[in-house]
Amino acid sequence: MRKPINPVVEKLKPSGIRKFFDLANTMQGVISLGVGEPDFDTPWHICENAIHSMSTGKTHYTANRGLLELRQAICEFHKVRYHQNYDPEKETLVTVGGSEAIDLAMRALVTPGDEVIVLDPNYVAYAPTIELAGGIPVPIELKEEHEFKLMPDVLQHAITDKTKAMIINYPSNPTGGVMTKEDYEKIVPIIKESGIYVISDEIYAELSFDQDFASLAQFDEVKDQILVINGFSKAFAMTGWRLGYVLSNAEISSAMTKIHQYVIMSAPTQAQYAAIEALRHGLEDVLTMKKDYMNRRNLLVNRLNRMGLKTNMPHGTFYVFPNIQKTGLTSDEFCEKLLDEEKVACVPGNAFGEHGEGFIRISYAYSIDHIKEACDRIERFLSNLTK
Ligand code: PMP
Repeated sequence: MRKPINPVVEKLKPSGIRKFFDLANTMQGVISLGVGEPDFDTPWHICENAIHSMSTGKTHYTANRGLLELRQAICEFHKVRYHQNYDPEKETLVTVGGSEAIDLAMRALVTPGDEVIVLDPNYVAYAPTIELAGGIPVPIELKEEHEFKLMPDVLQHAITDKTKAMIINYPSNPTGGVMTKEDYEKIVPIIKESGIYVISDEIYAELSFDQDFASLAQFDEVKDQILVINGFSKAFAMTGWRLGYVLSNAEISSAMTKIHQYVIMSAPTQAQYAAIEALRHGLEDVLTMKKDYMNRRNLLVNRLNRMGLKTNMPHGTFYVFPNIQKTGLTSDEFCEKLLDEEKVACVPGNAFGEHGEGFIRISYAYSIDHIKEACDRIERFLSNLTK
């Protein structure tokens, strides 16, 4: 008889997003509001820099931490755009997407039995990467009435002697919630006092609407305890290039670099050249795409509220998180019925944690026409429900 595989892996649940879209893919005429990636193609001047790098023989490994020129561009961008200060040589590591950075952060920090606080609802990769590192995810509930922000008393309550870290994501996938500087000011003393690490997934930083992006790494008194994760997928429409990075104190950065050096060696070289161009000359493209996202958000939130699905105005990302409790259906029932009757695919809120129940996630990384058509169908679905 064969030996069993790792039970931790065996117990991991498949992503609730994938499960649903596998079903949608088997049907004809489905209109999706499900994906978590920009509908825009990568701006061409960024692609060109990658092509140029290949045509000039830049087809080899880079330094384990990534090209120094890229790390310098990353640190410069973070200083100017986000008022965060990091050293390109000792505190910066280029990774295979933000995804690798999340995994490295967990593996570098967590020892078996450590608790890691996750905000619920949250991005689907957090709990599995904690479990794979031997840690225990401890979900804390985010509430709609608080616009899905992290509240200081809730955090204080969740911290125990076993808490090693917390992972947060603002602007947030799936809720679109953001934290302001004033919101963070209230939790900084708790983080300082407890000594826990905070992995701050800031992959949607550039997609902050209506207000300035804020980060815990802007507070000197806790900066040493913060790991900032970011990448090129969302802001620059570069999901397929698989490039991200993590900024942290030098000790944690070299710990993560050790793991990265053994399992990855170095992130893809062509993508790194593309990323240098993105950071140096791509901001205008980002701002153009952002304007489009904001127009779509306004249309979508307006329509959803008008048809009776209570929806907070999100201040970041390209997701909205409508409350569907009024329909009397669970998140799964709502999405299944909507797919079955009107062929619109959304993601049930409980795919992002148990406190996502009663909500659905809608992505607006689609054209205005696509969004309008989907809204018409959802409206018809709701009026048939109440008949
Ligand atoms: N964090 C969040 C919150 C995300 O939504 C995603 C992508 N869906 C990632 C990290 C991973 O992005 P990537 O690996 O493409 O950088």
